[in-house]
Amino acid sequence: MQVVVLASGSKGNAALVEMDGTKLLIDAGISATRIKKALALRGLAPEELSGILVTHEHRDHIAGLTTLSKWYHLPIFGRRDTLAALSCAVKVPEQLLHPVEAAFPLDGVKVEGFSTSHDAADPTGWRITGSERFVLATDLGFVTSSVQEALEGADILMLEANYDQGMLEKGPYPWHLKRRIMSNRGHLSNSDAAWALARLKRRPGQVILAHLSEENNRPGIAEETVRKILHRQGMEVPLAVASQTEPLALATDSYMYQCS
Ligand SMILES: [Zn+2]
Ligand SMILES: [Zn+2]
Repeated sequence: MQVVVLASGSKGNAALVEMDGTKLLIDAGISATRIKKALALRGLAPEELSGILVTHEHRDHIAGLTTLSKWYHLPIFGRRDTLAALSCAVKVPEQLLHPVEAAFPLDGVKVEGFSTSHDAADPTGWRITGSERFVLATDLGFVTSSVQEALEGADILMLEANYDQGMLEKGPYPWHLKRRIMSNRGHLSNSDAAWALARLKRRPGQVILAHLSEENNRPGIAEETVRKILHRQGMEVPLAVASQTEPLALATDSYMYQCS
């Protein structure tokens, strides 16, 4: 499996997952041109994608969806309420919208959405299982027991580490915004991300810390906070930090040694 986080953060999110030959995009919150160029750098054309999975209808997850769907007619998968909310916000041809509730097969992999706690219509994380497993959980106020369960068994796990508690508290955001971010339907702090990892029964292969706040976090702080908490719990796991501007590519051994 290969995962390329094209962008991650409040200015736009998109991730490419390639597993067993199936290529999927999760969220299209950056421009279609940027997505096209980033895929081209890896020798991929958007037409090769099996579809786009949408986590929720916030702008940083769907900003490029209209143009991308107009250009390439890619099927868009998401919860019914998410698709309803996003079709009010952006113009997407209705025939491309595929509401999904339970797990479904898509070109050889199993795709499964799981509910997250966030201030959107029906937000989800995604779990993709084939010969390996990828799990994405960003934009979540806290880790519910069902999210905790969904994080299990990932070869690559992409988990939100949005803010450092101290930086957010002392930072310049108005109080109502701080309260929204810290609420149960806001975003996940670095330490909450770490504790979710520490509680896992099966250690993930690799972890990508994602959706970092530019104002209330720093890549080094997120990584250090998570690493320290995990270390104290006797858990070591390879950590990478996704960026708003620079794509991050990770692959498992099976991808690196596959025959072409
Ligand atoms: Zn977001
Ligand atoms: Zn959101």
